[in-house]
Amino acid sequence: MSTPDTFAARLADLQSRIAAACGRAGRDPGEVALLPVSKTFGADRIRAAAALGLRRFGESKMQEIREKAEALADCAIDWVVIGYLQTNKAKDAARLAAEVQSLDRLDLAQALDRRLQQEGRTLDVLVQVKTSDEPSKYGLDPAGLPAFVRALARDYPSLRVRGLMTLAVNSDDTEAVRACFRVLRGWRDRLRDEAIEGVDMTRLSMGMSGDFELAIEEGSTEVRIGSALFGARDYGTAGT
Ligand SMILES: *Cc1c(COP(=O)(O)O)cnc(C)c1O
Repeated sequence: MSTPDTFAARLADLQSRIAAACGRAGRDPGEVALLPVSKTFGADRIRAAAALGLRRFGESKMQEIREKAEALADCAIDWVVIGYLQTNKAKDAARLAAEVQSLDRLDLAQALDRRLQQEGRTLDVLVQVKTSDEPSKYGLDPAGLPAFVRALARDYPSLRVRGLMTLAVNSDDTEAVRACFRVLRGWRDRLRDEAIEGVDMTRLSMGMSGDFELAIEEGSTEVRIGSALFGARDYGTAGT
């Protein structure tokens, strides 16, 4: 498969692939949001993307959000945290993030809630769930999910739970990848049926450059796309 060589062309290509996957699944493309993942790419690249109408950007590190938010203070950008968030970065997240998709533990929830109360604001969060046995993946063990979501709703009123997020197993076996997405969707449906007060269990953030079409077929409402949009990442120099 050849990749178009400008950002605008890659965006158009991606949007048509998203629409085609929706078509196969009998879904309305309006149900599937695109979250561009700009980690390791500089402020100039994000500014150019924002000029094309993109507004939300996913980042893995609070440090990068801090630097980019400063460089792009004149752009109305919503920063979305998708990587492991250290508890001692809760203050920055409460100040700068529009949303955190990687909430996976109560000590982080408590720290965020306290800082959000100081800032006088609320924060949309997704709970990150571990849906594969890969040792490197962060996320909550699914068995603990119902109690975790109930505790969030009960104890941390500044956090508005909006759904679930996962990374599928990194594999060429499409059935194994689909199985991860199905697990997440199953838990979303089950928690939605519980109708926990204060919780809007709707969104499913799942699917990346290599597997977003499968994710859409399995019910994703939001795909997080980095390399298919921005190109290959260079971890050697960026974000340090
Ligand atoms: C980097 C990252 C992505 C995007 O990955 P690509 O394969 O470049 O699309 C999506 N989600 C998370 C959590 C990431 O860290």
